[in-house]
Amino acid sequence: RALIEAAGRIRSALRDGDTAYRTGGDEFAVLLPALAGPETATAVAEDIQQRFGEPLRLDGHEVFLTPSIGIAVFPTLSRDVAQLQKHAEAALRHAKETGRNHLVVYSKELDTYVQESLDFETDLRKALANREFRLYYQPLVHASGGGVFGAEALLRWHHPVHGVILPDRFIPLLEETGLIVPVGEWVIREAARRCLFWQRPGRERMRMSVNVSPRQFFSGALVPAVRRALEENGLPAACLMLEITESALLGNNDLTARQLHELRELGVRLAIDDFGIGYSSLSYLRSLPIDTLKVDRSFVRDLPANAETASIVTAILALAKSLRLGVIAEGVETAEQARFLRTLGCELMQGYLFGRPLPLNEFEERLWQASSGHVAAAS
Ligand code: C2E
Ligand code: MG
Ligand code: MG
Repeated sequence: RALIEAAGRIRSALRDGDTAYRTGGDEFAVLLPALAGPETATAVAEDIQQRFGEPLRLDGHEVFLTPSIGIAVFPTLSRDVAQLQKHAEAALRHAKETGRNHLVVYSKELDTYVQESLDFETDLRKALANREFRLYYQPLVHASGGGVFGAEALLRWHHPVHGVILPDRFIPLLEETGLIVPVGEWVIREAARRCLFWQRPGRERMRMSVNVSPRQFFSGALVPAVRRALEENGLPAACLMLEITESALLGNNDLTARQLHELRELGVRLAIDDFGIGYSSLSYLRSLPIDTLKVDRSFVRDLPANAETASIVTAILALAKSLRLGVIAEGVETAEQARFLRTLGCELMQGYLFGRPLPLNEFEERLWQASSGHVAAAS
């Protein structure tokens, strides 16, 4: 239904004699013959984007679509149909990688760019087998005293030529190619193994938090992967927390809900990551077995100076309390932010103030060093 609605919106921006058709997946092609000039193509594209400003309503949920658009013009640079298509695709690819809702007109420079991103994809496909992925760990702490109660596992790609690459640059491509499923499985297994190793006397309840992407839910392979990781290692399920973003719940489909309940039955904890910045409705908090809300970094950043932000964080904490959910504040960078959050009643935190994501050995060094399990907050 989203596709039908999208097609309708595209069509409403076209003239008689223009053509739009779906090329597959979530992609549409639009043919605009006999334009007055190349600028007209851009004008039509902007018009199409504007028509997606209003959300779609599907089953009572509001869904925003953010179209990325690539444009190629005949005969300026594209000399035949095949080239026109190839150039439009290159521009589209570039638009997508720049971020959503972008519009890119094909130019010569894009060709080198496309070649580079193709190499990038080829490299990414080999990265798992070549053992180029690493997990970094960032401490989760009790603000009072700074005791570490767990860690969030964060993926890094150690590229043989380009060095350490951050997830924002390659996770979208992992998702697009479906590689997130095997890579995500590796992350869960590796993190579970590590967490078991950390369970020492006095530290039996070290928690490990792992991010999972929507695509892993749709694959249907997530629950078996989690079960296997727990069984192989004999890790108590309650030590593992999975972080999902609200976008994984969009449309709140049965498949996702069923898997969340299955995970909950295994005893795994579930957290909503980046809470507060999604578009989805809050009703899922009633029907889904969520344990914890992770307050998005963008709210924490503006504390305590910004009064509106303080109100929002206060409201999130009140909501969590009445629904008996835990709250972890993300991205705490200053002692002032930490202090303010504590006055609001938020005890669990994560952020550069307490520790950056560290490679395994450095994280463990700090963990063992802090004899009583306390990490000193940087001043
Ligand atoms: P996230 O799950 O919200 O992770 C928190 C991000 O905030 C991390 O970025 C972390 O380094 C950063 N951060 C933590 N504390 C602070 C702070 O005090 N200040 C600032 N400015 N930043 C802070 P990172 O490691 O680059 O990860 C980015 C995102 O990539 C993660 O956001 C998560 O959504 C995704 N991601 C990471 N690892 C995985 C994974 O294994 N699987 C999946 N599906 N996604 C992952
Ligand atoms: Mg996370
Ligand atoms: Mg987050």
